Amino acid sequence: MSLLLAARLDADEEARWIDALREAMPGEFLQTLATLSDPGRVEVALLAQPPPGALQGLPRLRLLQSLWAGVDGLLADATLPAGLPLARMVDPAMNRGMAETALWAVLGLHRGGFEHAQAQRERRWQPVLQRRADEVPVAVLGLGQMGRAVARRLADNGYPVIGWSRSPVQLDEVQTRHGTPSLGAVLAACEIVVNLLPLTDATRGFFDAGRFAAMRPGAALVNLGRGAHVVEAELLDALDSGRLSRAVLDVCAVEPLPDAHPFWTHPRVVVWPHAAAQTDPRSAARVVAENVAALRAGRPLAHQVDRRRGY
Ligand code: NAP
Repeated sequence: MSLLLAARLDADEEARWIDALREAMPGEFLQTLATLSDPGRVEVALLAQPPPGALQGLPRLRLLQSLWAGVDGLLADATLPAGLPLARMVDPAMNRGMAETALWAVLGLHRGGFEHAQAQRERRWQPVLQRRADEVPVAVLGLGQMGRAVARRLADNGYPVIGWSRSPVQLDEVQTRHGTPSLGAVLAACEIVVNLLPLTDATRGFFDAGRFAAMRPGAALVNLGRGAHVVEAELLDALDSGRLSRAVLDVCAVEPLPDAHPFWTHPRVVVWPHAAAQTDPRSAARVVAENVAALRAGRPLAHQVDRRRGY
């Protein structure tokens, strides 16, 4: 069996992946798109933004293993071989990273961290009134790998958390709701809304003028999912009208964020460069190794994507 790393990564990042994959699977023959000499041996493709068509001509391919958690980009590639299992990256280290980022954003909103940073730039000495965490209800939309870790971490820090998902989920210390009929009440109840939905046909453009109108006046949006979840022009309108107080955006519709984009300079937008939960090759390569071992042993594969559902 051979593994193919089919990725568009910068040279340093690709080298880090190769080192980590070799360490996690010392017995495996690992090729890259640049070094591919024996396509007939490739049984597992390890994917991070592969160039379209990169997986053609691999007759023994049996498993598509994403190195990233979100697979919306892969599923949008019409050349991705159909009929093969597609597994995504689920790494507890990433969930912890996401929980840290969400906590940073929620604390920044609740404790005035972003106002204080702005006040410093303007030499203004102006404390924001300190409220208790239990006075700041937070909604977490999407209760998958990331959303559950985030909801728990926020609840551990004293925030009243309402989690929302498609199907029912039970979490300690977190109220949960599911399904579209309950969404309006969740949005209306919370001061901060954290997005951790997957990007699918059902969730593209999810945060539009209608959803902003359903949120509490003065609420804040934290988008840690995908940029295309948000209708950006309608978000700007909601911020400019005061309907929303602030947006903390780790992801944008076009990445990197274009130079002329209004988010760069908007006084109530905080931009991060898609860095909320980065895949760490050292732990992620071990996750890959477990799935490769499962494939070899004929055991069920972990974290398979339902292509029809889109996540
Ligand atoms: P996941 O495990 O697949 O979980 C998805 C959750 O969303 C599930 O609770 C699912 O509910 C729910 N959901 C899906 N469609 C829904 C709908 N139409 N209405 C209501 N709920 C719906 O996803 P994940 O791994 O936690 O990832 C969450 C997001 O984080 C994704 O957008 C991913 O791309 C993004 N992400 C971002 C970064 C970053 O650095 N910014 C890093 C990694 C991942 P059911 O289980 O009931 O179907």
